[in-house]
Amino acid sequence: MSLPTAKKIIETRAVTKRFPGKKTLFGTASFVSAVNEVSLEIRRGETFSIVGESGCGKSTLARLLVRLLHPSDGAVLYEGNDISTLSETDMRRLRKDLQFVFQDPFSSLNPRMTVGALIEEPMKVHTRLTRAERRRKVAELLGKVGLRAAFANRYPHEFSGGQRQRIGIARALASGPKVIVGDEPVSALDVSVQAQVINLLEDLKAEFDLTLILIAHDLAVIRHMSDRIAVMYLGEVVELAGNDDLFDRPLHPYTRALMRAIPIASPHGRSMNATLTGDVPSPLDPPSGCRFHPRCPHATDLCVSEKPVLGQAGGDRTVACHHWKEIADTAESAVREPPRSDTAAKRFALFRERSQQQEPTTAGNI
Ligand code: SF4
Repeated sequence: MSLPTAKKIIETRAVTKRFPGKKTLFGTASFVSAVNEVSLEIRRGETFSIVGESGCGKSTLARLLVRLLHPSDGAVLYEGNDISTLSETDMRRLRKDLQFVFQDPFSSLNPRMTVGALIEEPMKVHTRLTRAERRRKVAELLGKVGLRAAFANRYPHEFSGGQRQRIGIARALASGPKVIVGDEPVSALDVSVQAQVINLLEDLKAEFDLTLILIAHDLAVIRHMSDRIAVMYLGEVVELAGNDDLFDRPLHPYTRALMRAIPIASPHGRSMNATLTGDVPSPLDPPSGCRFHPRCPHATDLCVSEKPVLGQAGGDRTVACHHWKEIADTAESAVREPPRSDTAAKRFALFRERSQQQEPTTAGNI
């Protein structure tokens, strides 16, 4: 079901990204499809998350969405216009709308620039603000992300990881974006700092009316923040659903395995390997039919020979599995109860409470 253009802000149409692999013995180049024919829509104002194991293509897809990478095939539309074919000059004009917060707050900021210069730079490129106006805006943005205006004169190495990520967020906000993509924006941070940065992103999303696209592997973070979630496996979306639907009743066997891999409070814990058999196949030579079939406990001959397409699965969700209906009906009891939203909410509410009690602008503290 396609949305009217006014409601969707980004759309991908069978977008594919191939990277060159190793040359074969005969000198011909092979290609790895990091993202394979992904079609999805991101709605204005939502938090849309992409999850999956490491190497599933989620970061590549995130970069394609904001044209940090060119697709090999297919199209990416922003507000109804195909940005995959725009010239660099035209893209530069759009860049102010589409910003990216990187995973590593230690390497994503130029160490030779002051914090003020880092935040001011996008304003120089994308706005006509005067120098004095830009300086005022830098101070205002630092305040928005919980840092002191005086920090503008310092250098990134003087700050902790959490503070640097806040600086990265302030820089992303500087051009007045409509969409911010966060690629694992908190995974390099301590747990308590993660919650502060997540709460900050949520507050800024509401204040600046942003659409947030989040790449994360922490399902508690995903559960807490997302409106809708796309699950990726070997470069393809295998399930796309609203937060409650996905966590309360995962349909695709891979999504169910992801849910079972959520750590539980036990000395034995759980891991992805405990719930999935077999290795992740090579994207250089993906399996025939359903790419998940070598690891799927429900695989049949049909799964080996025929690729399932992402199809409607009732309500606002789609799933790519030949047998999702039978599996959902018969194996419901086999799925461990996923973390309830109230559990995740409690975790973050607690952090929010603590972070409000703390003085976040003291160097060394977040
Ligand atoms: Fe498993 Fe077949 Fe569904 Fe793929 S299509 S997830 S192999 S049951």
